[in-house]
Amino acid sequence: MQVIRSISAMQALARRWQRRGTRVGFVPTMGYLHDGHLSLAREARKRVGKAGKVVVSIYVNPTQFAPTEDLSRYPRDLKRDLALCRKEGVDAVFVPSDAEMYPGKMEGNYSTYIVEETLAQRMEGASRPTHFRGVTTVVAKLFNIVLPNLAVFGAKDWQQAAIIKRMVADLNFPLMIVVAPTVRETDGVAMSSRNKYLIGNLRPQAIVLSRSIAVARKTVAAATKPVSATKLKAAVAKIVATAPDARLDYVDFFDPETLLPQKQVKRGTHMALAVFVGKTRLIDNGRL
Ligand code: AMP
Repeated sequence: MQVIRSISAMQALARRWQRRGTRVGFVPTMGYLHDGHLSLAREARKRVGKAGKVVVSIYVNPTQFAPTEDLSRYPRDLKRDLALCRKEGVDAVFVPSDAEMYPGKMEGNYSTYIVEETLAQRMEGASRPTHFRGVTTVVAKLFNIVLPNLAVFGAKDWQQAAIIKRMVADLNFPLMIVVAPTVRETDGVAMSSRNKYLIGNLRPQAIVLSRSIAVARKTVAAATKPVSATKLKAAVAKIVATAPDARLDYVDFFDPETLLPQKQVKRGTHMALAVFVGKTRLIDNGRL
């Protein structure tokens, strides 16, 4: 497995692969890898085959964090991440530095961003106004560096995957986006690097997110006609309130493709929510 730190070396390797007709599957991550990330690498391998190459990037992208967010304390463990990638049969791990990705940014010599203007407005975009601009910018940069034939994203970040798909379509990136299912802990909590912040009695409280989705799904399945989003939102607020350290940021019911909010919720409507558990902001989503 190659560990590559410079953009020029990664691009040179990617070009060599492309010249030989080798298919490249790419999984962008911020590291502190868990089985959710590794499931994406497995999906990439399945798609490119034994003869293809799987590239994982590990980069905690500063432009997607607001100044008040957890950039400096975001969990990192490169040694462990590399061991996990090696075990998974990943061909190359791209680990750039900030100086490599955003040269001159501190001096004001970085000024190009990619902004998706529609899907990024609501939910995560409303709560974290500069977040998706950072995500689309870094993902576009990574696509230009890794030159993949396909890239795998997790359904865990449903809105992010929808925005990336739109960016790829709108800007004609010559690659395919694959969305892989959310991997969960045995109690239903979605795996996340940020779960590391949930110490002591906070961790069991994280269950309110997946429980809210399960209850909404059951309600919709049992109803003979569409259920009002307002009613479901009240039910979710109640569930979140059962955890003493949890605070609901938002819950939304929307069309899974257009992300347009739905006042009447039926089977197939998508649900997403963000909840602070202590100081940690967790997100989850699912199809109802
Ligand atoms: P992150 O490192 O959090 O930026 O995530 C990198 C990629 O892994 C994104 O495409 C996420 O959607 C995906 N991912 C994160 N958590 C999970 C999970 N529990 N199941 C599946 N994919 C995930």
